[in-house]
Amino acid sequence: MRKIIIAVDGYSSCGKSTLAKQLAKELGHVYVDSGAMYRAVTLFSIEHNFIDRDNVKKQELIDSLDDIQISFKPNAEFGFSETFLNGKNVEKEIRQMKVATHVSKISAIKEVRKKLVSLQCKIGRNGGVVMDGRDIGSVVFPDAELKIFMTADKEIRAKRRFDELYAKGESVSMEEVKKNIEERDYLDTHREESPLVQAKDAIVLDNSNLTPQQQLEVALEWAKEKILNSEF
Ligand code: C5P
Repeated sequence: MRKIIIAVDGYSSCGKSTLAKQLAKELGHVYVDSGAMYRAVTLFSIEHNFIDRDNVKKQELIDSLDDIQISFKPNAEFGFSETFLNGKNVEKEIRQMKVATHVSKISAIKEVRKKLVSLQCKIGRNGGVVMDGRDIGSVVFPDAELKIFMTADKEIRAKRRFDELYAKGESVSMEEVKKNIEERDYLDTHREESPLVQAKDAIVLDNSNLTPQQQLEVALEWAKEKILNSEF
């Protein structure tokens, strides 16, 4: 089967990574979580005191970008890759609220995006990749064979994210989760640098009322059709 590039973009907590992982597994492609990269840079910024309450010491972060190495290593036990920041496994830490609270401010910085987009392009150079994020179909892989734009009802998204954090033992309130999702969506869609937009040729997938299995079935049909077409 031919290897293609699938871009999965959309709002926060829409289930993009669940779908992207499912598709990658079914198609024998590699799953890449671009949000994890922005989260890793945010964690680095927190650890280096580049974030003071709501303010980001932008120039200090920009000057340190060369000191940030992000990589992914497969974890056979879980069946997916984990995120490493300067050699340290940060997969759990980058999912915490302390990172989610600041990530959209960090991802709005042009120099941060330039570094991470370049890394994302390198990873997907040879195809066979399912990458999820906010600008994958619009900026990172404008020629991706399949672009999916995901959306879901706000309340449902908040409930899903709350359940996920709760299961990981993080004590956050539903209100905090909702507020974080709303703030991130606002910042991600209103920033100057590559804001979250639906690419012209993206197919919308609203999964408000779909189970993970149902959303996979829908998207897999689209992917198989694109793979068939790209073989001729
Ligand atoms: O996908 P996830 O929720 O982990 O992404 C975290 C944040 O990283 C987003 O809210 C957004 O600010 C940023 N991001 C981005 N571009 C991407 C992926 C994520 O700006 N391609």
